[in-house]
Amino acid sequence: MLYLNKGRTRMITQKAIDRFEKKIIKPKDTKCWLWTDKPTVKGYGRFFYNKRCIGINMMSWLIYKGEIPKGKLVVRTCNNKLCVNPDHLYLSTITEYRLKQNKKKKSTSKISSWKEKIKCRLASWGL
Ligand SMILES: [Zn+2]
Repeated sequence: MLYLNKGRTRMITQKAIDRFEKKIIKPKDTKCWLWTDKPTVKGYGRFFYNKRCIGINMMSWLIYKGEIPKGKLVVRTCNNKLCVNPDHLYLSTITEYRLKQNKKKKSTSKISSWKEKIKCRLASWGL
């Protein structure tokens, strides 16, 4: 069984999983699974579930891998914003993620937009 954890525990319905899978293209090999639905302005995929907007990487993790422990983020190993291949995803702590992003991007504007993104994500997860 799959649960969406937000203080309370919620099950992800088969209907939602079907809806999610209809929007992705899964190549046979280990390549990225592509999200085909319209991305956000910033190029990220979003999925609506339980009247909330969830990042497709988080949704993919919840469907194929299971729970996301409190304080953890789902991060991609590939740099494809529209990839939902669970094999390309791993759990990271906010600190680890921040260190990586800081190494990758030195520009302050990028870091602040990243901070906004995290804040939004944490808020939507009630962390
Ligand atoms: Zn990928």
